[in-house]
Amino acid sequence: MLVVMQPNASSSEIDRVCEEIVRQGFKPLPMPGEVRTAVGLLGDDAKVDWSYIEGLPGVASVLIVQKPYRQASREWKGDSTIVEIAPGVRFGGDEVPIVSGPCSVESEEQILTSARQVRAAGGTALRGGAFKPRSSPYAFQGLGKQGLELLALARRETGLAIVTEAMDERGADLVAEYADCIQIGARNMQNYSLLRYVGTLGKPVMLKRGMAATINDLLLSAEYVLAEGNPNVILCERGVRTFDSATRNLFDLTAIPVVHKLSHLPIVADPSHGTGLRDKVTPMARAAVAAGADGILVEMHPQPDKALSDGAQSLYPEQFTELVVQLRTIAQAIGRSVPTLG
Ligand code: PEP
Ligand code: MN
Repeated sequence: MLVVMQPNASSSEIDRVCEEIVRQGFKPLPMPGEVRTAVGLLGDDAKVDWSYIEGLPGVASVLIVQKPYRQASREWKGDSTIVEIAPGVRFGGDEVPIVSGPCSVESEEQILTSARQVRAAGGTALRGGAFKPRSSPYAFQGLGKQGLELLALARRETGLAIVTEAMDERGADLVAEYADCIQIGARNMQNYSLLRYVGTLGKPVMLKRGMAATINDLLLSAEYVLAEGNPNVILCERGVRTFDSATRNLFDLTAIPVVHKLSHLPIVADPSHGTGLRDKVTPMARAAVAAGADGILVEMHPQPDKALSDGAQSLYPEQFTELVVQLRTIAQAIGRSVPTLG
């Protein structure tokens, strides 16, 4: 439920609404806007006596949010949310940042070389996994804490923001210590205790769509993070499983405008996992920017043929450089831009 105040409502009238919400056993969330303040009511609002609240001085209207994901919905917040993961790296506004790097952090040389290449090509964030959720327990699982230290080293050298995955609570504490944005992978999209936990850490979260998740599921998962008081959630479309084995996943481009209509949260596109095939990554990255993606996440490796994970979908550095040039042109054509680090 959302209590919309009149534009000239006084702060004591807003306080009065908050007190009433508390009296009825809920948590108020005042959200000052440019013109007026809205007060969100957190909790299961089915039993709220909203007619009483509607009659309080300074209240313009009470909006019952119909969507099951309340705070993630556009009904709750009309203006798009901009999530800034590091100075100048913003998702959800006019800029379309490019996040790239290898699937996994493998060694100091590999990650530093990748970081330099990402930076030189015009990317603004480095992404590489230190904790890897692999389908096989015998596949490379990542370097763990050492991987995070190497990412921090790469940030010190290049200034790139760091995005990396956390698979569990203990890992999330570590990731929060080293990175600028915590990635929650497709396999953990519905790990609700982990979602709640990262909601308390005060770091932006990049939430990837599960491989069998609907957009409704994705937004409900985002709601878990928002409900803990963390407003900085970036969604990520990375493809879903289907009957067709022609590509690794079916990259759902439509998810981008669908999410934009349903939610104020930014959504980035990951055509690397979305297609699983290097030669499909560039065309789908271009299409994603054209479709309105708020950022692009692509895997790039200095030597894809030697990669310990996801080599087949990793771009060669030259391909990545060319892609960024093309994405700039496409972004410009729709009134946006690809930012570079200062
Ligand atoms: C990854 O980002 O490298 C990854 C494992 O992705 P996803 O969770 O989308 O499968
Ligand atoms: Mn990967």
